[in-house]
Amino acid sequence: MEASILQPELAAKIADLYDRMEKAYDLVARQLDFTCDGCPDNCCDSYFQHHTYVEWAYLWVGLQELEPERRKGMENRAVEYAAACERALARGERPQVMCPLNEEGRCGLYKHRLMICRMHGVPSSLTYPNGQIKKFPGCFRCQEIVGDRQVVPMVERAPLFRELAALEQELLGARQGELSKVKKTIADMILLGPPRL
Ligand code: SF4
Ligand code: SF4
Repeated sequence: MEASILQPELAAKIADLYDRMEKAYDLVARQLDFTCDGCPDNCCDSYFQHHTYVEWAYLWVGLQELEPERRKGMENRAVEYAAACERALARGERPQVMCPLNEEGRCGLYKHRLMICRMHGVPSSLTYPNGQIKKFPGCFRCQEIVGDRQVVPMVERAPLFRELAALEQELLGARQGELSKVKKTIADMILLGPPRL
C-alpha cells in the first residue's frame, strides 16, 4: 500500500490556501490585464526547489488520484528530468528542463501545483518581520506590461507563506526539528514517493 500521510482535513486546508494564492494572483493579473495566453515561452522549464513536506505530500495526493498510465508517464519524465538537471549542474549551469508534470504545454496536476508555480508570473513582494521588503518583478512578459509604471500592483507573499508554514507545523508537529530540511525539485518528489513521516 502507498504511504499517504496527509489527512483529508489538512489536504482541504492546503487546497484552500492554494485557492487563495490563485485569487491573489488573479487579482493582480486582472489589474495589469496580464494573461499567459499566446506566450512564446513556457516557464514550466524554470529550475525550482521546494521546501515543505506539506506541499510534497499534497502533490502526492494528486499523483495518487491519477490513472496509473499517466502517473507512469510523469515518473518516466521525472527520471529524464533528474538526469538532465544533474548534467546541467555538473557543467555549472542552472538547469532548464521541462517539468515532468507538464503535458503538452499544460500543467498535468494543476490543482496540486506548488506554491512557487502559483506565484510565478505577476509582480510580488515579501515583507520580512523587520520591515524589509523584497520585490519580485514577475516574468519577462509581465515586466514588459509593467514597463515604467510608478504604481505596480503586487501579490504580498508574507501572509501566504506564514499560512503555509503553519500547515507545515501542523503536519510535522514535534518532529519538525528532527527531520531534514526539504530542498527538492518536483522530479525528486515524484521519484522519492510520498514523504515518509
Ligand atoms: S508566467 Fe509569463 S513566462 Fe510564464 S507562461 Fe505565463 S506569460 Fe509566459
Ligand atoms: S507543477 Fe505544473 S505549473 Fe508547476 S512547473 Fe510543473 S507543470 Fe508547470
